[in-house]
Amino acid sequence: MKIAILSRNPKLYSTRRLVEAAQERGHEVRVLDALRCYMNITSNRPEVHYKGENLSGFDAVIPRIGASVTFYGTAVLRQFEMMGTFPLNESVAITRSRDKLRSLQLLSRKGIGLPVTGFAHRPDDVDDLIKMVGGAPLVIKLLEGTQGIGVVLAETQKAAESVMEAFMGLKASVLVQEFIKEAGGADIRCFIVGDKVVAAMKRQGKEGEFRSNLHRGGSATLIRITPEERSTAVRAAKTMGLNVAGVDLLRSNHGPVVMEVNSSPGLEGIENATGKDIAGMQIEFIEKRLAEKKTGSASMTRTRGKG
Ligand code: ADP
Repeated sequence: MKIAILSRNPKLYSTRRLVEAAQERGHEVRVLDALRCYMNITSNRPEVHYKGENLSGFDAVIPRIGASVTFYGTAVLRQFEMMGTFPLNESVAITRSRDKLRSLQLLSRKGIGLPVTGFAHRPDDVDDLIKMVGGAPLVIKLLEGTQGIGVVLAETQKAAESVMEAFMGLKASVLVQEFIKEAGGADIRCFIVGDKVVAAMKRQGKEGEFRSNLHRGGSATLIRITPEERSTAVRAAKTMGLNVAGVDLLRSNHGPVVMEVNSSPGLEGIENATGKDIAGMQIEFIEKRLAEKKTGSASMTRTRGKG
């Protein structure tokens, strides 16, 4: 197979591991910076050019599109899709998962466990918004935040009100969420490939920190998840229409709740914590899907998440 990896940096752990895994299995692989791709969208003859070359003949494309380049990156991916290249994750599924509100709305429609969540842009009645989600303590999140930045724990009603007012002063949309205290500063990252959780790790925030992000000093360990957690994670990825996903769960008193579904989950933390070859599993998934396509197997028409 000829595989393209859309990644801005070939030196990143995840990109390197995917290249390695593809080559080990005898495939030809190229890393392309999506921002440097340019496209011809003439009727019926879609083309992607790169440094003067008209790219062609790719069987599959692995998108590793950073949050800050979602718009252009998914347009390049869509162009590959139009050329008949198999995307490990579809552009529409990536766009869907990058929108936190849309994602939560879709997950809630499927009845998947979520923390009680409210969202607002400029509420006239902050008091009512806070009441609506059950009152303090609350977690307040900036919609644009990543890696735990812009996630605040407001322990009292007064603190919740002032944080909300501060965020609103910045004209930012916010998400207000029930604080899952019983999670104990830990979350569970389930790594999905196809319709299976292939690996899971527990991330624990450092002492006194409710955020478990590894970027904030959290640590990761292998964990055994329950059948309920497994099925919640699989259903969440399926709802988003993602073949590969990192589903973050919290263990709450009312069962597993989904915090986020990530469409470009990093490999370093999970491969190190579990010792599994997850890059290899992704390449094998592509091999299987393309083989099914050639033989016209029914699983290609499996229904996808909508919206
Ligand atoms: P980001 O996408 O910026 O990483 P998250 O929404 O994942 O932000 O939040 C960061 C961390 O904060 C999570 O990994 C989790 O440990 C903790 N956290 C987030 N929301 C809640 C919540 N409602 N209750 C308890 N802990 C939470």
